[in-house]
Amino acid sequence: MQEGARTIANDVHSKLNSTNHREIIQVKSGQHVQALLSQYKDYSFSIAGGRHSMGGQQFLTNGILLDTSQFNRIVDFDQDSGLLTVQSGMLWGDLVDALGKLNQQYKCHWSIIQKPTGADDISIGGSLAANIHGRVLGRKPFIADIERFTAIMADGTRSIISRESNAELFTLTVGGYGLFCFVEEITIRLTKSTPLVRKVELSVSENLIERFSQLQKEGATYGDFQFCIDSGADTFLTIGILSVYFPITVNQDQAHTICNTSNLKLSEESWRELLRLAHIDKQKAFTTYSDHYKRTNGQIYASDTFQLSQYVPDYHDWLEDTCQSSNAKGSEMITELYIPKHKLHEFLETSKAALKSQSADVIYGTVRLIEKDEESFLAWAREEYACVIFNLHVDHNQVSLLRSKHSFRTLIDIALSMGGSYYLTYHHYASRKQLIQAYPQFKSFVDKKIHYDPQGRFRSNWFKRLCLSLEAA
Ligand SMILES: Cc1cc2nc3c(=O)[nH]c(=O)nc-3n(C[C@H](O)[C@H](O)[C@H](O)COP(=O)(O)OP(=O)(O)OC[C@H]3O[C@@H](n4cnc5c(N)ncnc54)[C@H](O)[C@@H]3O)c2cc1C
Repeated sequence: MQEGARTIANDVHSKLNSTNHREIIQVKSGQHVQALLSQYKDYSFSIAGGRHSMGGQQFLTNGILLDTSQFNRIVDFDQDSGLLTVQSGMLWGDLVDALGKLNQQYKCHWSIIQKPTGADDISIGGSLAANIHGRVLGRKPFIADIERFTAIMADGTRSIISRESNAELFTLTVGGYGLFCFVEEITIRLTKSTPLVRKVELSVSENLIERFSQLQKEGATYGDFQFCIDSGADTFLTIGILSVYFPITVNQDQAHTICNTSNLKLSEESWRELLRLAHIDKQKAFTTYSDHYKRTNGQIYASDTFQLSQYVPDYHDWLEDTCQSSNAKGSEMITELYIPKHKLHEFLETSKAALKSQSADVIYGTVRLIEKDEESFLAWAREEYACVIFNLHVDHNQVSLLRSKHSFRTLIDIALSMGGSYYLTYHHYASRKQLIQAYPQFKSFVDKKIHYDPQGRFRSNWFKRLCLSLEAA
């Protein structure tokens, strides 16, 4: 048995999920996974893509970890209907890059519809498993962009899963956190690429939903609101930079040239400085960030590459080396709350008071919108919601972890009290009561899991923890 560093895996952002596996195996193909299922009959498997989930969704202590990082090729491109098939380990950044080349080769103009906004090295398999969303307006989560996928089931059989052939498994697997099958190849729907112009304004949470809706009526197709993170200021959570994007009619090649050459962008160095400021001088961080955004008002972007983002890997190690402040050590943990739109302002005001009283350390936060998802079994977008994301600093000692858990639970309670919900992909701190209130279908989800995978070949620490909390009830 292999022990030690090569069998230990952790998530990339919070780094709070270090897990020892029996083996970590790089997936080469669907047949490879079939062979592994048959070779390791007495073992359970978990599946990891980009390792961004933060509650152990991709890891299993002493299990076999199927790592898809080298399973990352384009499989098929239908340039007439805009369908792209990729291996599940492909990362969004690589997909956008490859799609650009395919567009050039076939002289067509297809774009992705949405991707996670904060990072590019998130896999398509991981995105399917969490049913991600981006900052697209007027659209449902990722499930709406998925045409079909191929799955290796727990018994080793291979199936094509779509709305037409095996609708139940389609709805369970998308947003099902790798518990029903290994997803091998995924076919996603693309959209016609359009140059977009960015409009930036300073906005307040009180009018935000009306403003979003007005801008959508005027034709905005993407947008978000990035709020002030300085808990010492009155503007905390209530003032922010609202940036929206409108399709425009400019020649595609012209648009690509404009955004590649003259657009103002934040360099990696500027990002590092912003991250440093977000830890030591939050007011300055917000002012610097909003000033940058204001200067980009009117810039033109391509609808695929503008969704790419800058993420500085291991930035906390760098902060620890360069910064004297007490919060330079540790990491950040994200949480996402879903709020009925008309309650957004109230939610932000209540959260403001709670986070202040708990001295929570907000590093970044944003608001986006989502349409109702009527398909996925574990749907998080049960209604049309405003999605509020907080990136909180977390120190890695028991007392701080308990404090963070308390803050995350408080935010979930506020969201639930307003008829909202929370995202399962981040921390695992929600209580059993919160889980059942937000996902009343979770017990049936477990029954379906047992039906499709009675021997528990696909498992994760996250799932084990949730099941234990249900049993303890
Ligand atoms: C900085 C940052 C920004 C983020 N921004 C957003 C955002 O804007 N929007 C959003 O919705 N989410 C966002 N996320 C969350 C992220 O999109 C999800 O956690 C996603 O699941 C991560 O995918 P991954 O490739 O990193 O997969 P992992 O974290 O490795 O795995 C996630 C889940 O996918 C399963 N899985 C992976 N590959 C397969 C496969 N081939 N077959 C079956 N199951 C599989 C795993 O078992 C696990 O349950 C962000 C996370 C971070 C850290």
